Order: sequence, then structure tokens, then C-alpha cells
Amino acid sequence: MFDVCVLGSLNMDLVINVDKIPAVGETILANGFMKFPGGKGANQAVAAARLGSRVIMLGCVGKDDNGDILLNNLNRDDIDTSFIKRIDSAPTGIALITVDGAGNNTISVYPGANMKVDLDYIDNAKGFIESSKIVVAQFETPIEATKRAFRIAKKFGKKTILNPAPAKKIDEELIKLSDIIVPNETETEIITGILPESEDSIKEAGKILIEKGAEHVIITLGSKGAAIMDRINFDIVPAYKVNAVDTTAAGDSFIGAISYYLSKEQRIDFETLKSAVKFSNKVSAIAVTRKGAQSSLPYLKEVIEVFG
Ligand code: ATP
Repeated sequence: MFDVCVLGSLNMDLVINVDKIPAVGETILANGFMKFPGGKGANQAVAAARLGSRVIMLGCVGKDDNGDILLNNLNRDDIDTSFIKRIDSAPTGIALITVDGAGNNTISVYPGANMKVDLDYIDNAKGFIESSKIVVAQFETPIEATKRAFRIAKKFGKKTILNPAPAKKIDEELIKLSDIIVPNETETEIITGILPESEDSIKEAGKILIEKGAEHVIITLGSKGAAIMDRINFDIVPAYKVNAVDTTAAGDSFIGAISYYLSKEQRIDFETLKSAVKFSNKVSAIAVTRKGAQSSLPYLKEVIEVFG
């Protein structure tokens, strides 16, 4: 049995530090280089596992060194990687990140093996979906495969969480297959056409998502916290005030935390969601006080130490 099944991306983040981002046609010498495990799917899997969930990850990597490193990395957090497929025809996904002295960056992602998640793979993973309580997905792997996974999850009465990131238009069938949709502000604007910047616009955007078929909506609002909505209720749960030094993976820590929390609940109602968001705000508040993506994700013990 698994608590959380994460279907999603595994990337190797290649981070190059420069004084100044090079212009088109320019070559410069960088002053630093590091490799970090990343990908929204993998980050969310690690976030849930560090809080105590039994996690299985579904996805694809290449038959290359980066693939080996990413799988070993997930195994270190006791994530089941036995069904992650090794692909011959594509390399492991890569994010090439150039960061200048002021913290500005450019990011190019080559999804590689992540795009090889197909319907056959999902059909073969049916048993893992059936034996998980929650299925989570994002937009860094093919949408048709996510729909198939969510359809299977619904058939077996599992809860589905969709994090529509990175932002793109979304089809209504996928929204209907999602028990909870969790976009950030940008994603909300792209899906609904409304930037959720005031209480009224948050409500308006949430209403559109509910009309498109979402039962529960959580819009993350950065340092403002997160808004929760269903057909009847609305609330904003404020974020904790912390000294944020790096918000990388804030969203992923939040999704991992929501998945962990809800996997322990029998049913999702508004009050349960509110408690889940309160908890997730704590987890993300810790994550933003630390540098990096997976390196910033806290263990349950740390969340309890900080917040009691
Ligand atoms: P990212 O893309 O940086 O990973 P995101 O845009 O997907 O993040 P956000 O809405 O920025 O997600 O943040 C997710 C959650 O993280 C928020 O709902 C909040 O709980 C927490 N958070 C983000 N920024 C801060 C902050 N400055 N202080 C406290 N909590 C924060």
C-alpha cells in the first residue's frame, strides 16, 4: 500500500553561475556549476516522503548517468522507484539554469524522457494506482497520460490532485477528473483569464474553475498564503511570516504537504481542506527559508520543531 502516487517529471537541474547572463551570440566564462535533482514530480514526491508518506513515483528517465543519480536520490527518501521506466530513445530531462550575481535567471528545460510517459505505461501501472490513496500530477508529463491515470484513480475511488504547472490552458475533462486543483497565481490567470490579486478576483477565478468541473480549488498566493473554495465555501488561510530567502519549490513543498495530509483523511470536506492548507503553509514556510529545491524540503520532525 502507498499513501501517495506521484505521476510526474524527473529532471536534472544544471545550474551555471555567471556575473551577467550572456547576450545572444555571446560566450562568457561562468564562475560556478552544480547539478541538483529536480522536476516538479520528483520534488513533490520528496516533499510528501519527508513528511512521512509512503510514496511511489511514476515517470520516465533515460538510460544515462543523470537517470541513475535521480533514482538513487529518490531512493534515499525511501520513495518506491521500481516502476520508473528507463527509456532508450531519450535522455533524462534536463533544466539548464543560468543565474547571475543579482539572482536573475534564464531556464531552458529539455523534457526528454519525461515526454515518453504514455498510455501503455499508465495502463501497466494500474496496480500501483489502485494501491495508493492519493494520485498527484502536474503538467511536465503528457496530459493524455495524466487523464488516463486519473480515470483509473477515479475508477478505484482514489483522490486526485492536479497541480497545473507550468502554466498552460487546461482541458475541462482533466479538471473534472481532479478532486482538487491547486494552481498558483500565474496558472490561475492562464486557466481562467483572471489574475487572483484581490479577494473578489480570487473568488471570481475560483468560481470559474468550479464551473469547469473542479470540486475543490486551492489557489496558492505566495507570501499571502492560499485560498480554498468549493461550491459553497470560501476562505483564505494566511501564510506564516518568515524571512524568505529562496522560494524555489515553494509550490512543490505545498503540493507534497497537501498530498501527505489528505492521504490520512477518509473524506475531503471544507474543514479538512482548511486544516490541510494550514499544515501545508507551515511546510512551505520552512522551505522558503532555505536555499534550493529538494534541499529546502523539511522532514515532519522539523515542521513539529518549528511550529509545535
Ligand atoms: P514556486 O514556483 O516558487 O515553487 P509557486 O508560485 O508554485 O512557487 P506560491 O504560491 O508562491 O507557489 O507558494 C506556495 C506556498 O508557499 C504558499 O501558499 C505559501 O504557503 C508558501 N509561501 C510562498 N512564499 C512564501 C513567503 N514569502 N513566506 C511564507 N510562505 C510562503
